[in-house]
Amino acid sequence: MIEKRKLNKAFKLMREAGLIAQQNFCCCRSCATCDLEKQVRQSIGRGEVCIGFAYYHAQDEDIRRSGDDFYIGYGPPVDEKGRVMGYYAPIGRLVCECLSKAGVPYQWNGRASNRIMVKQTARRLCRKRSRPLKELRLSKVAVMPVMQAEVSGQLTIQENDNSTC
Ligand SMILES: [Zn+2]
Repeated sequence: MIEKRKLNKAFKLMREAGLIAQQNFCCCRSCATCDLEKQVRQSIGRGEVCIGFAYYHAQDEDIRRSGDDFYIGYGPPVDEKGRVMGYYAPIGRLVCECLSKAGVPYQWNGRASNRIMVKQTARRLCRKRSRPLKELRLSKVAVMPVMQAEVSGQLTIQENDNSTC
């Protein structure tokens, strides 16, 4: 089972990286997504640097407490008409990087349609080292006009290559 403080640290890193990141948030995926997309819009509206969101919901909190693998959802900004104003995969990679830095094992196939699994159950561990991915510009991660003027930093994204295990 993952130590809660490591998970807390990962979510703190996500917030520092410009995500709205919530633990034990809402009842289910659709409620959490709806609420967080709204929070992201409000944050951007206030002129804050916000590139997306990450969360695990209350059902996954129950699973976490039971010691089983659970899932983290994530997404880019979405406008009021439901148009996606960014890309899913870089947000997923950013979440993975934060988990990695906090020492939280995870598994993700890199596909936007899949949430990121936090591995709590003891299985064969992958010994392969993380490999660096190409650098991503924050301005390409989120394309909301209000942000482009403010965001100029670079992110270095790393991803654990679990696919070969
Ligand atoms: Zn719900």
